[in-house]
Amino acid sequence: MTPRMRAMLLDRPGTPLRMVDLPVPQPGPGTLLIEVEACGVCRTDLHLIDGELPHPVLPIIPGHEIVGRVAASGAEVTGFVPGQRVGVPWLGWTCGTCRFCASGRENLCDAARFTGYQIHGGYAEYTVADARYCFPLPADDNAAGAAASLAPLLCAGLIGYRALRLAGEAQRVGIYGFGAAAHIVAQVLKFEGSEFHAFTRPGDVASQEFARSLGAAWAGGADRNPPCLLDAALIFAPAGPLVPAALRHLDKGGCVVCAGIHMSDIPSFPYNILWGERSIRSVANLTRRDGLEFLELAPRVPIRSEVVRFPLAQANEALAQLRRGDFQGAAVLTMKG
Ligand SMILES: [Zn+2]
Ligand SMILES: [Zn+2]
Repeated sequence: MTPRMRAMLLDRPGTPLRMVDLPVPQPGPGTLLIEVEACGVCRTDLHLIDGELPHPVLPIIPGHEIVGRVAASGAEVTGFVPGQRVGVPWLGWTCGTCRFCASGRENLCDAARFTGYQIHGGYAEYTVADARYCFPLPADDNAAGAAASLAPLLCAGLIGYRALRLAGEAQRVGIYGFGAAAHIVAQVLKFEGSEFHAFTRPGDVASQEFARSLGAAWAGGADRNPPCLLDAALIFAPAGPLVPAALRHLDKGGCVVCAGIHMSDIPSFPYNILWGERSIRSVANLTRRDGLEFLELAPRVPIRSEVVRFPLAQANEALAQLRRGDFQGAAVLTMKG
């Protein structure tokens, strides 16, 4: 009898995920069958469900912060052994030949495919992933909590890391939206001797307290002025008006980095707040090199992710709480409670 698995499926945007019973997939050539231990819940999953991302492959199992164990390898896979813990990120496949892939920018590949968007993801008991895009993960701790605490590194952590690197040399960094990505990048900033200033929704005292507990030099509402000019601002909240707001707090030569995949429209602003070689840029996806660098750095910090765990069946509830900003840190689905 074919083994079966539970999965949460998105039939079409605007509808809740639906628990389904499916055959466990078979690993094809070059892929791993992974028994999922934990899968992070990312804001990108909300954008997918809300229909804000173009051309999803439907129906789709979301989830691109996957931590699991190798259950089986397809033909031609090398470098992984059964039982090994691996991570599967958002970048699921690239062509390897386009001008972006050929120049170390596979994150911009013309034909890229993404986990939990065009390839079934980790809101399931098993998933299949291209082995070339999987990362080895530490496996010294078998507890479900250990797998859960690794999950947010695979997108929130990685995107925050890439955003920070693309911001350039920055001693004083503003962070807009103090959620999963922010609480990880804040730890990297402290580790590297930089200071961070946390901007939250006005009145969100709990998030401001959370930022201070991680060492924020200052924390306040996004309608407030920080105590100094900033070298960089990392924007993790999907609100376009934060872009000119952040620009106004930048010192000369500073950079605003927009780290989300979707954002509401950016209002017009006077040129003089951009003048002085200030810049605005976005960060898209990740490269495998980002992943290797960041996962090597994480235990040295060491990064401790603040995680709220939900069973797989409560994926819709986890997404609703993320939307409302009900918790600090990251939501993670765990397959075994
Ligand atoms: Zn390519
Ligand atoms: Zn993500």
